[in-house]
This record gives sequence, structure tokens and C-alpha cells, in this order.
Amino acid sequence: MIQSKGYAAQTAETNLAPWNFERREPGAHDVLIDILFCGVCHSDLHAIKNDWFPGIFPMVPGHEIVGRISQTGAHVKKFKTGDLVGVTVMVDACMECENCQNHQEQFCSVSPVQTYNNLGKDGLPTYGGYSNNIVVREEFVLNVSEKLPLAGVAPLLCAGITTYSPLRNWKVGKGHKLAVVGLGGLGHMAVKFGVAFGAEVTILSTSESKREDAQSLGAHHFVVTKDPEQLNKVKSSFDFILDTVSAPHDINGYLSLLKTNGVHICVGAPAEPYVIPPFGIIAGNKVIAGSGVGGLAQLQEMLDYCAENNIVSDVEIIDIKNVQVAFERMLKGDVRYRFVIDMATID
Ligand code: NAP
Ligand code: ZN
Repeated sequence: MIQSKGYAAQTAETNLAPWNFERREPGAHDVLIDILFCGVCHSDLHAIKNDWFPGIFPMVPGHEIVGRISQTGAHVKKFKTGDLVGVTVMVDACMECENCQNHQEQFCSVSPVQTYNNLGKDGLPTYGGYSNNIVVREEFVLNVSEKLPLAGVAPLLCAGITTYSPLRNWKVGKGHKLAVVGLGGLGHMAVKFGVAFGAEVTILSTSESKREDAQSLGAHHFVVTKDPEQLNKVKSSFDFILDTVSAPHDINGYLSLLKTNGVHICVGAPAEPYVIPPFGIIAGNKVIAGSGVGGLAQLQEMLDYCAENNIVSDVEIIDIKNVQVAFERMLKGDVRYRFVIDMATID
């Protein structure tokens, strides 16, 4: 077995604390990765707090992983020792069902395996990236360019793909007015991609204090959603809204900001359902859509696109001992714009 050091929540009520555990030996098609950086996604906090469903504990969260290959199984073709790689929210799937065949392995209908808080095909719990190493089936390992600052690449593995994917799938670009709700980890990546794809981008934020950053992120407009006057000015004006809000919120106000035929894309995953009166979407032929991360091919496409266009996440690098403080700050919306754990700080 592979010995691992990580930070785990022992229950939904406890803080993250150091925990030593074992991972499977790399099989013939697996690689062992020494983790260098891991992003802190709001989903990590949702999972630990059982916001969506009861979790598997002890839980080692983390699915924005970058590192270097330190061992390869006998039949591994794609990688060699020393390669720089990334791991996202999933580490296995059947590869045969309709979704897998359509490059949407994240929705595998037979045997999907999440990076943590799930059971692997061996029936053992999976443990995520808040740790010094991970064993992953080679198909689920992505190539990472040596060109970009690595800490800023880690969040691309979830925040990046979760925003890149719907913007690409809905063909958002030149001539479109895009609003991004919530300027956090996902939100700031949505702004960067929206701008790169040629859309006119407005940030809809509850935090006046983030206004100054909007410009450096490339956004064209910044609207504080707590101010009815500012909101009124953007009524019926957007083709697309990408909603990244993590907390329960009323989306009806946002729907009124869409043009006729406008699309509200939900990527945020609050613990409570949305309540939408029928005429909120009937009037104006509005569309409410969802989007879940992205498949392996699109992940690699996104990573390559970021390397070519010099796109990374704006990060605050933290010592793993401070991860609990990072959670607390993230809950308050005090994140600019992704906490990333430097795994060299694990003892
Ligand atoms: P985050 O960094 O904490 O950002 C969320 C942002 O939402 C905050 O910074 C804040 O921005 C805004 N916000 C918070 N509470 C709010 C409220 N009550 N009303 C309005 N706005 C509020 O979180 P994240 O890591 O980007 O994740 C965002 C959500 O996406 C989470 O629910 C996460 O689980 C989910 N997610 C989904 C997928 C998927 O596949 N669909 C993948 C990854 C994550 P302002 O200060 O600008 O208002
Ligand atoms: Zn995530």
C-alpha cells in the first residue's frame, strides 16, 4: 500500500486535522502522483458539511490537484515519471455507457468514481488532494503545461472547467452580453473565459469591495446586486447569466435581467432548491440550464487553451495548517479568488 499524509474531517462536525492513511498500490494502468498544489473549492466545504448528502468519513477533500508523476504502472502509455499532471473531480468511470462514449465521463451512469467522498471500484473510499500523493487511473490524469505558474493552474481542474464548459457548450462569445453572478473561485474564472471568448462581461456581486478587481480581471461592468438602482439599469439586458453562487439565493431577480430567450446557467450548488414561479420563465421564453464540471477531452482542451492564452486562476497560496481559516473566509465571500494549498507545507 502507498502511505499518504493528508488533512481529513473525521466527521461533519469536526475541523480538518492531520491524518495518515493508505492508498492502493498503483495497478498496471495507474500512476502515482506527488501532489504539489491543491485548490480549495467551495464544494469541499459543502461535502464536509453534508450539505448535499451524508458523506463518507474520514473525508480528505480536494479535487483541484496538480503534481508530478512519481511512479507508473506496467501498462501506462500516456505518462512517464516526472511529468506534470492534473486531476479533477473524478478518478474513474465505466468508459462504455452513452455518457462516457460522448466524452461526458463526469456523468457516467454505470460506475462513476469521484476523487473523494466516494467508493472506488475496489469498494474502498476515495481520498482527495489535501494530501501529499494520489493514485489515479491514467485516463483520468490530464497533461499540464510547464509554462504556467502551477499554483494558478490547480483551480483550473474544477473552477476552470466548470465555467469553461458551459460557456463553450452554449457558444458564448462575441456579440453576447454575459453576466457572472458571484465573484469567487468559479466566478473569477468565468469572467476570464467570458472575456477571452469575446463576450461583454458584467459581474453581479454582493461585495462592493470587489469592484476594483473587476477591471484587472477584464470585466466590462460591475453591478452590486444589493443596490436596486444598479440592478434596474441592467434589467432585460443579458443573453446569458452564469450563476456561481454557493449559498441559497432567490434566482427570480436574476431571471428578470435576461433578455427574451436568455439563458440562466446554474453551476453553483447551494444546499437548498431554487423556487421559480412558472411565469418567471414562461414570460420571455427563458431557459434555466445546469452544467456539471466537464469531460476529460474538454478538460484537456481547457488546460491547453489556458496554456496558449496565459490564463490561470488568481490565487492566495496557503499553508495546509490554515485550511480551516480559508474555509471560514470562503464562507464569508472573502476570497481573491482561490485559496490553493502548497503541499510542501504538509509535515
Ligand atoms: P466561492 O469561491 O465561495 O464563491 C462563491 C461566491 O458566491 C462568493 O464569493 C460570493 O461572491 C457569492 N455569494 C456567496 N453567498 C452569496 C449569497 N448569499 N448571495 C449571493 N451571492 C453570494 O465558491 P466556488 O468555489 O466558486 O463555488 C461556487 C459554487 O459552485 C459552490 O456551490 C460549489 O459547490 C459549486 N460548484 C459546482 C460545480 C459544478 O460542477 N456545477 C463545480 C464546482 C463548484 P460575491 O462576493 O461576488 O457576491
Ligand atoms: Zn470543485
